[in-house]
Amino acid sequence: MHAPPWLVPTAAYIHVPFCAHHCGYCDFAVAVGQDERIDAYLDALEIELAGLNEPQPMETLFFGGGTPTYLPHRALERLLKITLRWLPLRDGHEFSVEANPSGLDAEKIALLADFGVNRLSLGVQSFEPTLLRVLERDHEPDDVRRVLEFIRPRVGNVSIDLIFGVPGQTAGQWHNDLARGLALEPNHIASYGLTYEKGTRLWKQRERGDVLALDEDSEHTFYLRVMETLEGAGFEHYEISNFARPGFRCRHNQVYWANHAYHGFGVGAARYVQGVRELNTRDVRTYIQRLKSGRAPTFQSERLEPRERAMETIAVQLRRADGVNREEFRTQTGFTLEELVGPALRELEEQGLVRDHGTGITLTRKGKCLADAVVMKLMR
Ligand code: SF4
Repeated sequence: MHAPPWLVPTAAYIHVPFCAHHCGYCDFAVAVGQDERIDAYLDALEIELAGLNEPQPMETLFFGGGTPTYLPHRALERLLKITLRWLPLRDGHEFSVEANPSGLDAEKIALLADFGVNRLSLGVQSFEPTLLRVLERDHEPDDVRRVLEFIRPRVGNVSIDLIFGVPGQTAGQWHNDLARGLALEPNHIASYGLTYEKGTRLWKQRERGDVLALDEDSEHTFYLRVMETLEGAGFEHYEISNFARPGFRCRHNQVYWANHAYHGFGVGAARYVQGVRELNTRDVRTYIQRLKSGRAPTFQSERLEPRERAMETIAVQLRRADGVNREEFRTQTGFTLEELVGPALRELEEQGLVRDHGTGITLTRKGKCLADAVVMKLMR
């Protein structure tokens, strides 16, 4: 019998922290101006992967960052080789790589495709030069079309990221961004509201009053607009921030939203294996030093109690259009929804935020706009 997917991973994430420059809003584990550490980083990553002891076949792989495609050709090839040595792909796999329009070339795309990469997630964010500057992105709007010309023949499955709620962004600009995004005919669009993560340059600018955050009403309007526009264009709104043409949901990310198990390697990477959540150190130097001296790169480790794990499962599964299925939830967690959140659920249903289908629950449209508040209410 197969081990259940919430205990044993069939998905793996590899973090590549290197970037050409640090965008002002970015709070990921990023290494800028540290290119001399790329080889040592790959040495360390290889040690971490070898900790698996034997190759573990994966259904999905995801290279994220940072900017994986920022690596020079030779380093990118080594990354692909060491990953596939320990995490070979099963038939019918999904292998996604995040890329930025700047610094991408046809040779890197050919290399990725030769090693089985079949999905590319492109950090577009906006087509408005002024907004790209507010975000401190280092590409021009036209770069996107240019890189797609050599991406498409080798990697046909393309997702783009678009951000809304950027300081100074107007409804017209957002409408234009969505229209230009759709005109590129991607299979998938991830659309996130901008967040001000503590400590980022953008957060400091807002604290000083140098930039003015959009008010909540505008953000809701922008979010409603993205739902209407993309659903109207035939996209399935399958997760709060993610839209896919039929058949093109991101299989890897669906593992997170199911609260299933996944591997994570590299600086700042998270993993969830056999009910234990772990987080690697976010510092590249520490990551390298630890692995080279035979120590684990783990910075935090916690085994969740069954009840905590079940509550977390509700929180992440509610993000999906498929919501929480009662029977699957019981099999996965050993609890019923009613015993955990019954009264809160009824209240949320009365408020029109959650819909109870009998077989399961989903967020309503209003609930999607207030998803964080709905989850908080359930977790109380
Ligand atoms: S390119 Fe992406 S990962 Fe790198 S700094 Fe910008 S937002 Fe962060």
